[in-house]
Amino acid sequence: MSTLLRIEQLTKYFAHQDKAAVSQLNMQVEQGEILALLGPSGCGKTTTLRMIAGFEQPDAGDILIQQQSILGLSTQQRKIGMVFQDYALFPHWNLQDNLIYAMKHISRADRVKKAEYWLELVGLGGLGKRMPQELSGGQQQRVALARTLAAEPKLVLLDEPFSNLDAALRESTRDEVRRLLKANGATAILVTHDQAEALSFADHIGVMQNGKLEQLGTPEDIYLRPQTAFVAEFLGHTNLIFATAKNGIAQTALGPIALNQPVEGQVTLSLRPEQLCLQAQPDAPGVVINREFRGHDYFYLIEQQGMLFKVITTQQERYELNQRVQVSTCYQAVIVQK
Ligand code: ADP
Ligand code: MG
Repeated sequence: MSTLLRIEQLTKYFAHQDKAAVSQLNMQVEQGEILALLGPSGCGKTTTLRMIAGFEQPDAGDILIQQQSILGLSTQQRKIGMVFQDYALFPHWNLQDNLIYAMKHISRADRVKKAEYWLELVGLGGLGKRMPQELSGGQQQRVALARTLAAEPKLVLLDEPFSNLDAALRESTRDEVRRLLKANGATAILVTHDQAEALSFADHIGVMQNGKLEQLGTPEDIYLRPQTAFVAEFLGHTNLIFATAKNGIAQTALGPIALNQPVEGQVTLSLRPEQLCLQAQPDAPGVVINREFRGHDYFYLIEQQGMLFKVITTQQERYELNQRVQVSTCYQAVIVQK
């Protein structure tokens, strides 16, 4: 695989703000890869995309496509496609004309045929004469993506493209869009604040906080091996435990726990709720404070020795409120302290 996009030390300050919106960001995206930029609102995701697309100029750093800096190029010269939250189809043009608009690079005679090809690909074959407002939100977003892909961009940028869709439609549209991007070998960056969306959509995830990249890795890396407390907590529930480590073993309130790194001294550990186990015992030190039935599992809050632990069990393992239980670990703990 070859690298399509490389970002080096990218930095952006806005007027009247003392903190950088994006600060010394480094990352790269391989040809054909989908990268998700994940982080809370205001962490600099959109600003990063806008600099890549050429809508904002960085204050420092560089953006390269296939080894060439694109900072001197106009938005159009960069050949980057963007899909936004609000579909942005031309409301007074039918679907066919919306698509044809993106096809200036192919001969006039082929455009109508090609528009139909794209509509079929997004499951809307034969609907070229429909107006955008005659479609559901999910359908409009698929046309918007088709229009972006029809321009044959080198890179597709998607800024929270599913957030205006209701929950059921969001999942199916997301799967459909991912399938389309992959079928076309497209390289894409998805911006989202939704961790489930990032985990299921992307090949790699970059987690951002305060304009900085906290960690870049596969979805499994980010979820199972978070490198900072922020990443551990942003990707779903976790238990952060402070402990002293020696020879790869941490002494904790839950007893000795094996670690994923051979470290010494003070450490912060992350244990996901599904990595803890419960055992009912009349004289156990823990007590069930809360129980939530979530269909495919139970989510418990357990108080043990003055600490609160989140524990997920199977739907077969039901404990009652105030029941005495022992919390223990069934996996290695991950060190998140840096
Ligand atoms: P995200 O997309 O992650 O929610 P943004 O990139 O939109 O975050 O914003 C990052 C930071 O930059 C925020 O503090 C935001 O208020 C600020 N910001 C974004 N755009 C502008 C702008 N045009 N002028 C001033 N500040 C801005
Ligand atoms: Mg944004």
